[in-house]
Amino acid sequence: ANRSRTMEATLIPGDGIGPEITEAVLQVLEALGAPFVWDVQQAGTTAVEAGLDPLPDATLESIRRTGLALKGPLTTPSSGGYRSVTVRMREAFDLYANVRPGKTIIPGRYDNVDIILVRENLEGLYVGREHYIGVGADPHAVGVGIGINTKEEAHRVIRYAFDLAVRLGRKRVTVVHKANILKILSGVFLEAAQEVARDYHGRVTLDESIVDACAMQLVMAPERFDVIVTTNLFGDILSDLIAGLVGGLGLAPGANIGDKAAIFEAVHGSAPDIAGKGVANPTALLMAVGMMLDHVGETAKANHLRAAILATLQAGEKTRDLGGSLRTPEFAQAIIRSLQKPR
Ligand code: NAD
Repeated sequence: ANRSRTMEATLIPGDGIGPEITEAVLQVLEALGAPFVWDVQQAGTTAVEAGLDPLPDATLESIRRTGLALKGPLTTPSSGGYRSVTVRMREAFDLYANVRPGKTIIPGRYDNVDIILVRENLEGLYVGREHYIGVGADPHAVGVGIGINTKEEAHRVIRYAFDLAVRLGRKRVTVVHKANILKILSGVFLEAAQEVARDYHGRVTLDESIVDACAMQLVMAPERFDVIVTTNLFGDILSDLIAGLVGGLGLAPGANIGDKAAIFEAVHGSAPDIAGKGVANPTALLMAVGMMLDHVGETAKANHLRAAILATLQAGEKTRDLGGSLRTPEFAQAIIRSLQKPR
């Protein structure tokens, strides 16, 4: 394949289905002639099982050096003092914007969805400040969680969303909030959006939507949304909702963007229920590579990759989660054949 330039990037295959979908992605990228030279590193359960920290220093150093990473899903047990590795990575590299496009690529419930959701990635209810208050004999009688939103961080991520809208020729940014109830926590974010919007007057308009109403509108008329910007927890929930509108988690990519590094991933998790069975859908991770190629300016290769994925799915060549019967490596081969067809 034609490789005009190369660049080093960190590759974390991840846990559960991570290694299977990563293998499929590497085969497709070889056929595409993608410019990445991979520095393979560990994280998550895979690292713990190798006797390392869930986020080893070597992995952090690699990303610090390359500024660019593709990450498979990492397992985070809900109990035990194990802080999410994904969240720790976002903090370590100041990855303040989580970008999740939701576009109809195969006919499904909705045909014209083309939403880009930008989620604040560092603050809100994800700051990890939680504690119990004991009452009587029960030390866990009350659970307390603190959310923090700063104007500074809100301005930065909202500005990112507006700049993205300008770059992609989009006209509307909807800020999603709950400032009617969380007057301060959510109010700060809404106010920041109103402030940033003034700088884009005449180019991009700001819409305001309360999160509960937004969830309903996303289901009733998703084609009305363009770019959405919101706080960490709402963004987490709504981006999965949007993924569901356009065909499910098996298709949805995400990018964690900072000024010094960017980490690309599938929105889905490690899918322990199907891990090791060879049936996982690698499309979301492939679409994440598409975003990664866009990010480094390889737009032609990104478009070629997306066209091949689309043609493969439209030809009915699918993995089990989408109602097909192809196993992961067979699906990868179908995409490779599609890449090689003149288009
Ligand atoms: P999940 O996304 O792993 O799985 C949800 C359902 O979707 C499962 O039935 C699974 O089989 C299916 N699914 C997911 N991806 C698929 C794919 N590519 N192909 C086919 N089917 C797919 O969510 P979960 O079960 O709630 O979480 C499992 C683990 O993943 C947890 O430890 C969680 O913390 C972690 N997780 C990690 C990330 C990340 O690293 N970015 C994101 C979400 C969850």
